[in-house]
Amino acid sequence: MEKVVLGIFAHPDDAEFLCAGTLSLLRKAGWAIHIATLAPGDKGTAEYSREDISRIRKIEAKNAARLIKATYHCLEFEDVYIFYDRASINKTTSLFREIKPSVVLTSSPADYMIDHEMTSLIVQTACFATGIKNMEVFVGGYEPVPYLYYTDPMEGKDKFGNQIQPSNIVNITGEIETKQNMLACHVSQRNWLMSHHNMDEYILSMKRFSEQRGKEINVGYGEGFRQHLGHGFPQKNILKEILGDLVKP
Ligand SMILES: [Zn+2]
Repeated sequence: MEKVVLGIFAHPDDAEFLCAGTLSLLRKAGWAIHIATLAPGDKGTAEYSREDISRIRKIEAKNAARLIKATYHCLEFEDVYIFYDRASINKTTSLFREIKPSVVLTSSPADYMIDHEMTSLIVQTACFATGIKNMEVFVGGYEPVPYLYYTDPMEGKDKFGNQIQPSNIVNITGEIETKQNMLACHVSQRNWLMSHHNMDEYILSMKRFSEQRGKEINVGYGEGFRQHLGHGFPQKNILKEILGDLVKP
């Protein structure tokens, strides 16, 4: 098994909110880390043009990734227009065949924003499709289906306000500073929120939610995950196997 993990989400900063602590732990365990976004975050602004904010946010994402020696990729779709279609599935599957992840982390299938839910579906299919010989994907060869985990949705709830309970919580207490530093790299988003709330709500909301997940396993900070255990997907709890006592099922 290649020690390669891919955290793949809709927008720059999604990974930093939901799984940066776990990615940092995997890095320390000797894994190569890739962070990808389907879109460049081109709608996340009240002041810049689409071109300018896309450029800024990709640099911010790269800077955040660099803190855990991760490689950042953008698939160049658009915010709000992430569709489950041929183009997105083929492009995502191409990325999988290029970097060959054994473990994939992505958005919750139930979340507050459709971009996140679409990304979750596209990634689920790319995991499966990377193992299918006759895909219209001409990068590399076909690869085994990777282990797939869904992060918590934003604030841990679905669109009806129901709490989504994770099946595994990772103790990220030792990584909270790195996670905070990674999120702080997204300067444009932090400033945008700061001007609305008059306080550093960007960082505070991440810490509040990580603290809530940590409390559930009696540690300082945590990140929650649910493993995809459908037919054809590997069934072992690989996160637990790699990170040991830091993971509470
Ligand atoms: Zn997002």
